[in-house]
Amino acid sequence: MSAAGGEEKILVSVRVRPLNEKEKTRNDRCDWECINNTTIICNAHNLSDKPSFTFDKVFGFECPTKQVYDDGAREVALCVLSGINSSIFAYGQTSSGKTYTMTGITGFAINDIFLYIDKRMSLLSLFRCAPSLSPGGSIRRNVLNYVSAQRKIGETSLNETSSRSHQILRLTIESSKREVSPESSAILAASVCFVDLAGSERASQTLSAGSRLKEGCHINRSLLTLGTVIRKLSKGKHGHIPYRDSKLTRILQNSLGGNARTAIICTMSPARSHLEQSRNTLLFATCAK
Ligand code: ADP
Ligand code: MG
Repeated sequence: MSAAGGEEKILVSVRVRPLNEKEKTRNDRCDWECINNTTIICNAHNLSDKPSFTFDKVFGFECPTKQVYDDGAREVALCVLSGINSSIFAYGQTSSGKTYTMTGITGFAINDIFLYIDKRMSLLSLFRCAPSLSPGGSIRRNVLNYVSAQRKIGETSLNETSSRSHQILRLTIESSKREVSPESSAILAASVCFVDLAGSERASQTLSAGSRLKEGCHINRSLLTLGTVIRKLSKGKHGHIPYRDSKLTRILQNSLGGNARTAIICTMSPARSHLEQSRNTLLFATCAK
């Protein structure tokens, strides 16, 4: 019954978006087929075999974001209500659907979290939000306005800028069950981070260029370090986890290690012209498992 795979700490799913207008007008082919809700195969004719990839969930292009949320993120997001830190990432190349997916997921999660709080008046809850949002109105409205502003940025030329940086929305929820034991008033505090990562092509460019990289060329250390950290965590390694190697992983340290739950949604274009990037994304997703 557990959508997030029981006790598994890292839930990895893949979402393939539909071909966009640009891809359609240049007669780009769709090379990928989701054969069930956990497996995707590559039908590219130039490959001798048909590589298949299996994840906790695979969402085809007909899949609405609500389903991606329900099966790929909801359980992880709602951990915050039990005092467990969590983070939800969108990983993929620019224009693969990260912002589209993450803004939708954030909206559904905010609604679920507030619904829960509304129903349980016994919980005294406090929300903190980073980046901090302008005061006025309810926090819920503020957060949803922020999410819709992010979505608008994604739809404009500013997307170029946002694709070069990571967008993090962190919600912290503190609650205490006052009526149960007023004197002990233990406070449960946890945060959930919604992370719309920089375009993953930055990481693979860096990787493929290797040491021949020209001076001044910016290495996206964050994505590489995130990959390493997640890989080590997913293998249950208890040794050194290099959180401090990048700003992103340092900021997210408490949302990744320990008891924290993580959901990664890897987004990809189905187009033949993006085959290499899509394969890189699936390799990242495979390593995170
Ligand atoms: P990214 O953030 O990865 O650069 P976007 O989320 O901005 O990509 O998506 C690029 C374009 O594709 C946007 O116009 C978006 O509305 C559209 N898009 C992305 N995913 C989907 C989807 N699953 N269904 C329909 N349109 C999508
Ligand atoms: Mg984006």
